Amino acid sequence: MKILKGAEVSAKLKAQVLEMTAAPGGHVPTAAIVRVGERPDDLSYERNVIKKIAAFGMESRTYTFPETISEAEFLEKFREINEDDEIDGILLFRPLPKHMDGSLFDSMIRPEKDLDGISPVNTAKVFAGDPDGFAPCTAEAVVEVLKAYEIPIEGRRAVIVGRSMVVGRPLSMLLLKENATVTVCHTKTADLKAVCREADILVAAAGKAGMLDVEYVKDNAVVLDVGINVDENGKLCGDVKRDGLEAAASAATPVPGGIGAVTTAVLCKHLAQAAAKRAGK
Ligand code: NDP
Repeated sequence: MKILKGAEVSAKLKAQVLEMTAAPGGHVPTAAIVRVGERPDDLSYERNVIKKIAAFGMESRTYTFPETISEAEFLEKFREINEDDEIDGILLFRPLPKHMDGSLFDSMIRPEKDLDGISPVNTAKVFAGDPDGFAPCTAEAVVEVLKAYEIPIEGRRAVIVGRSMVVGRPLSMLLLKENATVTVCHTKTADLKAVCREADILVAAAGKAGMLDVEYVKDNAVVLDVGINVDENGKLCGDVKRDGLEAAASAATPVPGGIGAVTTAVLCKHLAQAAAKRAGK
């Protein structure tokens, strides 16, 4: 079984970004990272994003606000960031605190600065197969892994477990665009095991530690594990149990070191693309 390493895919994306941003004396693409509150998961993702943006030769600015900020005040601050001409792309951590209407900010973010594809404009573009739209980074990361390892997608049966707006749904559209035949599963799917066993490409994005074992995997399938969970021993793990996987799958992403590493690299690619578009390139 081939291990599909996130670091290798990330290195390829870095080369693309460096090529896109190479103009001597040119403007350095700059991201605004906007966070309300101090959720540990957000803080850890933020550190990874800041490191990756710097490693890809670009800049980031962080804008942090206390959990207690009023919606009206945050709206004002967010508007300033959104309109700031020096900012090429925005990453807004979600969910926002309960006293705020998250969809208001999804709709407000300028689509051309929307690094994680949360704007309804970008959702519509992804749905329509319009390459001009930004897809959520994790969904796109799955496709980037398949492409980087030259795993054929066209004509293949792809099964995605999970239908969230950040992974399952946009990914179904991206794989459809690549001419896969796509099935999306969820908690009400009947006989999940049988459906998963039809997959040439199996994507696990349920967020349930080890919920898919080798019995869900067809011989020679490619397994992409998006899940990031903590197991009973406090260790990071995916949605797929590794026991016996080696014998069934032809290739699989590890957790950690798989899709997560590619997600931040896709974010960097979006930042470079956003800056290029704003510069009229
Ligand atoms: P959500 O909780 O929003 O969605 C989970 C989806 O999985 C839902 O559609 C749910 O179905 C489905 N699901 C849950 N349990 C089962 C089950 N037993 N059988 C079938 N379907 C099931 O999660 P996210 O999409 O936000 O995240 C999914 C995972 O991916 C998490 O582990 C998260 O940490 C990880 N993640 C990783 C990222 C990365 O960079 N690698 C980035 C984003 C997320 P239903 O709709 O019926 O409830």
